Amino acid sequence: MDGRVVEGTGARLPVARPSDLVEYAEVPIADGDLVDRAVRNAAEAAATSGWASQPPRERARAMRRWADLIEERGTELGRLEALGSTRPIAQAVSGDVASVAEGIRFFAEWADKLGGDVAATRSDNLGLIVSEPYGVVGAITPWNVPLSMASWKAGPALAAGNAIVLKPSELTPFSTVLLAQLAVKAGIPPGILNVVHGTGSTGEALCRHPGIAKLSFTGSTRTGIAVMKAAAESGLKPVTLELGGKSPQLVFADADLEKAAACIAGSLLANAGQACVAGSRLIVQRAVAEQLATLLQTLLSDIAPGPTWLETTSFSPIISEQQAQSIERIIAASLEQGAACIFGGGRLEGHRGAFYQPTMLMQVNGETAAVRKEVFGPVLTIQSFESEEEGFALADHPEYGLAAGVYTRDLGRALRAMRAIKAGTVWINRYSRTLDFILPTGGFKSSGIGKDLGRQAVEQNLRHKTVLVDFGA
Ligand code: NDP
Repeated sequence: MDGRVVEGTGARLPVARPSDLVEYAEVPIADGDLVDRAVRNAAEAAATSGWASQPPRERARAMRRWADLIEERGTELGRLEALGSTRPIAQAVSGDVASVAEGIRFFAEWADKLGGDVAATRSDNLGLIVSEPYGVVGAITPWNVPLSMASWKAGPALAAGNAIVLKPSELTPFSTVLLAQLAVKAGIPPGILNVVHGTGSTGEALCRHPGIAKLSFTGSTRTGIAVMKAAAESGLKPVTLELGGKSPQLVFADADLEKAAACIAGSLLANAGQACVAGSRLIVQRAVAEQLATLLQTLLSDIAPGPTWLETTSFSPIISEQQAQSIERIIAASLEQGAACIFGGGRLEGHRGAFYQPTMLMQVNGETAAVRKEVFGPVLTIQSFESEEEGFALADHPEYGLAAGVYTRDLGRALRAMRAIKAGTVWINRYSRTLDFILPTGGFKSSGIGKDLGRQAVEQNLRHKTVLVDFGA
């Protein structure tokens, strides 16, 4: 807070490394008073530092310096991320940190390119639509990709001229702190990016604080609903919610099956399926179902589990014992409902942390637990279909609509699928994000409200004021 580490008087929680469950640090829990101080400090910084009132190119300059520092300290940031989270170090340093720096640069470029509108009015009136930052934005991030999530929240909020108070998950608190310290070093005024630590009650205090004008949250749909309720009850704050998913991978018989298999396996293995966009429901045309399952078995066998701090590790641990048990409960319920496990289906032994085998379940339907619920583990369900319409219908999930993959060589079919699928992102013949931060991400239905990334993320951090000037004589 205010560019310094501030000790609260509240309790401290041990923080464990997911790779081996060794408790390596404690995190202080911010109580309501400390959250209040952090928000007030951010409001004061917003009012006095000139962050919003200075020429916007100065904001852009400070953010670009921040991105440079993130790269310069990339190994340190990546090590910290890998130590305490599920991100293998090779991916954390060359993937996550590099992407965070690029993302901050992308948002920095918006700072001096924002504007309003001049509206059509009678000729002796001037109608302006002026965009302004909210003031202090509150953001809450999950444990699965902590650095990236922090940058996705802070980047657009800061570019738009807001201050932000950010609460990372209690399971992965530390890399966000270093990110914030680098922001101060880069010249972003102290207090403009404050970090508070804590559990759900800290998050709730942040959501309900009257000094927070807008909220942005990424995590489970259940908690997203709590955030929205708190936002509504404490001044009707606007919310951006990036929530759960149960994303389909729709494969037609004419697809390049090897490419499709690589995309599907890549999505399942990335962070051991602990990703909101994990493509966890394979919906495949019957004629190629067996062939694709065989290709997938080969790819899913090729994993390198291990401690996240080893360069040789590419397959992540599960974040906690509790999360591993949640995966086990969903698999057990699915088997009881008649699902057949054709691959994996249990823990990977020989590790101190919880590691779960890549797993494939067949003989499932829309009621099966693993098809209905977000598993957040490396679990793929397989359903097959005959006709295009049947495939589209199976791809539709009653609750979620975050992302979808479509694999076909038929352009018309790909575009029909794009129209039919109710999801915030449709990938065609690929299944992963790129460094094109102009592409927003966010869900339909219970997968969320609003967007992270893209121009949309910046716009969501601005509110619009209508001004009508009468200059008639
Ligand atoms: P949550 O959604 O509970 O947590 C996400 C963030 O919200 C964390 O920072 C958490 O704090 C905070 N939080 C918890 N309760 C509240 C509250 N009442 N008000 C405000 N903030 C709150 O996710 P979990 O970590 O508990 O994971 C549970 C499940 O959520 C997973 O199994 C997975 O299915 C899903 N999930 C989805 C993610 C996504 O990207 N869509 C990301 C992570 C999880 P703290 O962690 O400190 O308690």
